[in-house]
Amino acid sequence: GEALAVSARVAPLGSRLVLLLVEDLTEARRIEAVRRDFVANVSHELKTPVGALSLLSEAVMGASDDPEAVERFAGRMQIEATRLTNLVQELIDLSRVQNDDPLEDAEPVRIDELVAEAIDRCRHQAGAKQITMASGGTAELRIWGNRGQLAAALGNLVENAVNYSPARTRVGIAARRVTAPGGDLIEIAVTDQGIGISDKDKERIFERFYRVDPARSRATGGTGLGLAIVKHVAASHSGEVTVWSSEGQGSTFTLRLPEAGAARDRSTRQTTSG
Ligand code: ADP
Repeated sequence: GEALAVSARVAPLGSRLVLLLVEDLTEARRIEAVRRDFVANVSHELKTPVGALSLLSEAVMGASDDPEAVERFAGRMQIEATRLTNLVQELIDLSRVQNDDPLEDAEPVRIDELVAEAIDRCRHQAGAKQITMASGGTAELRIWGNRGQLAAALGNLVENAVNYSPARTRVGIAARRVTAPGGDLIEIAVTDQGIGISDKDKERIFERFYRVDPARSRATGGTGLGLAIVKHVAASHSGEVTVWSSEGQGSTFTLRLPEAGAARDRSTRQTTSG
């Protein structure tokens, strides 16, 4: 309606302009719809643990003469509280990677340190499932970027690899330098032997709050925001993240990011030529 009314009013100005205006309105609407969806999703995701906490606290009060039940309810309250904390933290991370310019405090970041940190973050979960973690090729390589954001991105990929894999499997993290026309890149591949992702879902997993199996994601403390964060970090570092997967066999998520030396060379070239 609105778009048509506008196009009718400006029609004398020429059809090209009308088309541009209509496209603009359509894009503005799309952005508005995405924003509304996001707010609705956040509200829903917050309501679930808060609702559970409220019910559980009532249950605790009603079971004051049954210490075992109180303990059971309290345990579940703790799980819901953790879920809430994770969600709030990931929302903060997401808003940071969306709004801050990561290259404002960019520095050379060592891959071996990032990998060690990511493995450390998952040590507990991996240990519980007897998942072996192995890394290779990470010595001496450095990325040009924001340390905190890069750590969050790699951490999310490794965490997913562990979460979506059955017990007694292997998670591998391999890094290498790749020659590229615009300057060398560092490629970090996280490979798991987990449940895999269908072709249909591959297109959507990087969207905020998209999960293939919401119940499974929640059970492992997932928020549905991890890969959206990874995608933002990769893009804002002039890099990319891609996925290869075969259902029931496993997945490989690959980050490609500018090498520290290469990025410095690029900016030197730009300043000397300009
Ligand atoms: P979550 O917090 O749910 O893990 P992510 O944004 O990190 O959210 O991932 C989105 C969805 O993509 C997950 O819910 C899961 O369905 C799928 N996924 C992500 N990583 C993997 C993986 N390594 N193997 C299989 N599925 C994965």
